[in-house]
Amino acid sequence: EREVEQPRHPSKSAIGLDMGISKLLTTSNSEYIKPKNSFKANQMKLAKLQRQLNRKVLFSQNWKKQNRKIQKLHSHIANIRHDYLHKITTSISKSHAMIACEDLKVANMSKSASGSMENKGRHVKAKSGLNKSILDQGWGMMVDMLEYKQQWRGGLLMKVNPQYTSQTCSECKHIAVDNRQTQSKFECVKCRYVANADFNAARNILAAGHAVLSAEG
Ligand SMILES: [Zn+2]
Repeated sequence: EREVEQPRHPSKSAIGLDMGISKLLTTSNSEYIKPKNSFKANQMKLAKLQRQLNRKVLFSQNWKKQNRKIQKLHSHIANIRHDYLHKITTSISKSHAMIACEDLKVANMSKSASGSMENKGRHVKAKSGLNKSILDQGWGMMVDMLEYKQQWRGGLLMKVNPQYTSQTCSECKHIAVDNRQTQSKFECVKCRYVANADFNAARNILAAGHAVLSAEG
């Protein structure tokens, strides 16, 4: 047993991340990252392979061969997703000592879909569509990656309470459902601050991360 020096993150920067459907991430620096829907792109192919499988005699040689094809496509999809999430999370973790994101409880959300998460599920067409997107993008996986990569580098990942992050004005802190008129636009009914809704949320998430940090000293 020996003492290991705690790594020190090379950066002093902090960032807030809003996770979404159409934009995988929106940052408090006003950048955004598109999702990579590896499953969506491959699901037609998968469905076709599945139909072919159903026409084959159960446990026959051809059935087994077809089954292997399906497994191969599944792992191909998973690999693409992993690679993409690794690239994103490594880049963010290298640049920021403190990362704040919502504590999503992704599992719960994929069960209910309509969303305990305020507006996020409201404008999505079908429940299954939302579920698929969440699973496809692997929000939970992304948060896990951020968490251990921050630990490696001596940085921090703050998971903040997602309540009101989309209804709060990041400028004057006024909270109102009416602040959020559409999915993409935020307009504060009190101070008239106007911003992209995801960007406003990312700023609130960052502020919440700072608040938790200072409360913990
Ligand atoms: Zn305001």
